[in-house]
Amino acid sequence: MSTSDIDEIVSDFSRFYILTILYEAPSHGYSILNKFKKRVGKEVSPSLIYPFLKQLEQKGLVKHSLKPVGAKKKKVFGLTKEGKELCKQLFKRFSALVSVAIEPSMSICASCGCKIYEGGYNEVINNKEMTFCCVHCAESYKQETQKKH
Ligand SMILES: [Zn+2]
Repeated sequence: MSTSDIDEIVSDFSRFYILTILYEAPSHGYSILNKFKKRVGKEVSPSLIYPFLKQLEQKGLVKHSLKPVGAKKKKVFGLTKEGKELCKQLFKRFSALVSVAIEPSMSICASCGCKIYEGGYNEVINNKEMTFCCVHCAESYKQETQKKH
């Protein structure tokens, strides 16, 4: 699953959150609605949830089974192995974004994008101080920018 596939599937926060609910446990549509409302404090429209679940199912990321809920049988949606894999990637990306916001001391290598907690390598390039994780990243960054100019 490539980065652009993830972007295509999760284009907004609601969809992202629906995935976190499914990641916790298989759920039926109504319970996704409920959990969403309880935690986000906002209603999510069934007209967003059901087409999204269908889309995920078509991509092989979600599977449904019929399970008795009360007197009725309902569709319970759960992530497939691929779906769980996608979520893991997504959460990793999201947590990297969040940690940049909550850890002001942290910076990100301008070349490879990895997190730098301390140290790192600074170099002034085009009159701008840039931070890299290592000298090699600084080198490849310089080569990249030279190509563009
Ligand atoms: Zn780097």
